[in-house]
Amino acid sequence: MNDPVLRLTGVEKIYKQGEPGEVHVLRGADLAVRRGEVVALVAPSGAGKSTLLHIAGLLDTADKGTVEIAGEALETKSDRRRTAVRRGGIGFVYQFHHLLPEFSALENIVLPQLANGQPRTAAESRARSLLSSVGIADRADHRPAAMSGGEQQRVAFCRAMANTPQLLLADEPTGNLDPATSDRVFEALMALVRDTGLSALIATHNLDLAARMDRCLRLADGHLTED
Ligand code: ADP
Repeated sequence: MNDPVLRLTGVEKIYKQGEPGEVHVLRGADLAVRRGEVVALVAPSGAGKSTLLHIAGLLDTADKGTVEIAGEALETKSDRRRTAVRRGGIGFVYQFHHLLPEFSALENIVLPQLANGQPRTAAESRARSLLSSVGIADRADHRPAAMSGGEQQRVAFCRAMANTPQLLLADEPTGNLDPATSDRVFEALMALVRDTGLSALIATHNLDLAARMDRCLRLADGHLTED
């Protein structure tokens, strides 16, 4: 119960393709995100934030080190187990919303729940309640193209929360929005995270947003340090 929701220990990642031939992106990165904690991940572009988030979210594997979610070491587990933990336990938000363009806001939040075995009525009711909690209940039937950038990102947050994850991973979630919208959308995200007691690791360039989280980790030269 006291295990951190996410723990990375000695994580290394080397990309071998391309010029200059080998990029040692992570060189022994360690971090722990405790229950209910919201942690900022700050790093210059190219430092390896996305790589770290993909490894933490079981979308990629480390070359060395361990990834534990709620105390379960997942580096050596089967793809099937990793997929099950990712689907049911981890929510992702990216800089660009990546919503499915041919589906409404509601359907974009319903579909991951159906994939996770939820009945449709329960999935729709959860989707409506999530949309309402970020202030866009009236956009349920809109397709992404008919929504503003801020609204699209709010839907992306709801989709990330759809399966009641333990951990939210976000990669520059407001990086594509103007400063005023970014601020409001970030507040909506934080309110949702705080209400659900979720743990989160949120990459941002924005030091003002980072300062509003519980802790700030910096990624440089393949290592993480705490501010
Ligand atoms: P950030 O998210 O901090 O901008 P990334 O994790 O995307 O950084 O990338 C870190 C470094 O690793 C960059 O130099 C990038 O070019 C390199 N990189 C990322 N993905 C790959 C890949 N699939 N193959 C080769 N190099 C990669």
